[in-house]
Amino acid sequence: IPRRARGLPQKQPIQNVSKIIAVSSAKGGVGKSTIAVNLALAFARQGLRTGILDTDIFGPSIPTLLNLSGEPRLSESQQLIPLTNYGVKAMSIGFLTAESQPVAWRGLMVMKALQQLLYKTDWGGLDILVLDLPPGTGDVQLTITQEVVLDGAVVVSTPQDVALKDAVKGVTMFKLVNVPILGMIQNMSVFTCPACNTNTHIFGAKGVKRACENLDIPFLGNIPLDADVCADADRGKPSVVSQPDSAVATSFMSLAEKI
Ligand code: ADP
Repeated sequence: IPRRARGLPQKQPIQNVSKIIAVSSAKGGVGKSTIAVNLALAFARQGLRTGILDTDIFGPSIPTLLNLSGEPRLSESQQLIPLTNYGVKAMSIGFLTAESQPVAWRGLMVMKALQQLLYKTDWGGLDILVLDLPPGTGDVQLTITQEVVLDGAVVVSTPQDVALKDAVKGVTMFKLVNVPILGMIQNMSVFTCPACNTNTHIFGAKGVKRACENLDIPFLGNIPLDADVCADADRGKPSVVSQPDSAVATSFMSLAEKI
């Protein structure tokens, strides 16, 4: 039975993009956008033509993370031309709305904006597009997972139980809509004291790895809780480009290789 007849939206490819992966998390604040942007920069460092699409309409953070601002120009075919920094093309609702103004839109407008960002951006030929999804399993996530031809999804979680319980729901959502799960990344796994080098697992050590075993999905690796990761992100120069030889940048490079 065709998808339309079953009430499912038609799957639509994004033009001129070879591979699309979604980076998701069940909760906000676990570092999903930070990881999405560092992964995108790692793909670009591998030599891939890379883009990142910020689909978080209510809390876009890609403009800040990539130090990008200004309104995108329109192409001859009236498509949005992404802004570029550090070799990564980026599109975000944050480029189209005033920074200080909250987006207070009803569902329909959100969906309309999302459709524009997804299908009216002129990527001009990409090897890989990273979709930074909003946290949770709401309307936007469902639309994307059901409509976009996704090559796979990565789920980011911190190791503590409250985050993990919801992360499992996220994984289940992707399974339900037949999106391949590339695996989970454990963020903020360990804190190494800069004064005495003691390692502390503030949120737990193995939660995400154990969850992966239970769910029978790949565990992709760890990113430590590191003050530089946060500071680099805040100043719009993520660790993969600001400290390319650091341990954390190396971790992002090896995560990117597994995806
Ligand atoms: P989310 O997209 O899940 O809401 P963010 O990527 O915005 O989360 O991260 C939330 C905050 O945590 C940001 O201030 C970010 O810089 C910080 N952060 C994320 N990952 C790390 C990390 N590994 N170490 C230190 N700070 C981090």
